[in-house]
Amino acid sequence: MAKIFCIANQKGGVGKTTTSVNLAAALGVSGKKTLLIDIDPQGNASTALGIDHPEGTPGIYEVLVDGTPMADVIQQCPDVDGLWVCPATIDLAGAEIGLVASVSRETRLKDALTAFFKDYSVDYVLIDCPPSLGLLTLNALVAAQEILIPIQCEYYALEGLGQLLRNIGMVQEHLNRELIVSTILLTMYDGRTKLADQVANEVRNHFGDIVLRTTIPRSVKVSEAPGFGQSVMTYDPGSRGAMSYLDAAREIAERGTRELA
Ligand code: ATP
Ligand code: MG
Repeated sequence: MAKIFCIANQKGGVGKTTTSVNLAAALGVSGKKTLLIDIDPQGNASTALGIDHPEGTPGIYEVLVDGTPMADVIQQCPDVDGLWVCPATIDLAGAEIGLVASVSRETRLKDALTAFFKDYSVDYVLIDCPPSLGLLTLNALVAAQEILIPIQCEYYALEGLGQLLRNIGMVQEHLNRELIVSTILLTMYDGRTKLADQVANEVRNHFGDIVLRTTIPRSVKVSEAPGFGQSVMTYDPGSRGAMSYLDAAREIAERGTRELA
């Protein structure tokens, strides 16, 4: 059974895409078959993994709106064996509106994955959400079992989190009873500032052990890698950024094992 994570936070620029891409690559290089679904019209995750996605490229839009099988649109990541990507194009910007009138519009992604798993198996599915709580994020929350919330170690980090958690509550109540907020990852941690420590402590006190022990440092290599169409895992495997995403992936995999035992 695949573990399906939705990487969500309606706050923009907190590291959702960076986390999705690098965790997916870290899981891939660790031998876990992983599918990354880019459900953000910005298509940043597709770019960052070296997947061509000009307008018209078949991807998540076709899956959600036309019912195209997931298997027909996924592409293998050129740099990481065991990592596949369902790309997003700017066409997806129209999907929110296109889906409004559709039948079972919130379960499109879930239905697509259920059909996909009849013929294929992977260990992990990671869904990179846009910075909003619209129909695209809703599809991700309905399809997922677990939510990973990246939190940036900066001022206003917790702003909007209440709204996100209330929305998740509604999804749990009405659309996906199995959904849990299983994981929080502190991102862009700058050890030189007191503020980063304060935010990290506040988040740990509030959320307890769903916060991963690993924090992701602010690192130039992490921010440079997408410009080369690569995750930091292949762009600079020895860097602190790469190591920390590898640690985060290990923690997530270990938790999974603990849960089953
Ligand atoms: P959006 O809400 O627009 O989808 P996001 O939550 O996906 O944004 P990212 O795109 O992952 O956020 O990151 C925002 C910016 O911060 C990017 O320019 C990215 O390169 C940079 N960034 C993310 N993580 C790190 C890090 N650990 N070190 C340095 N820069 C980082
Ligand atoms: Mg993003």
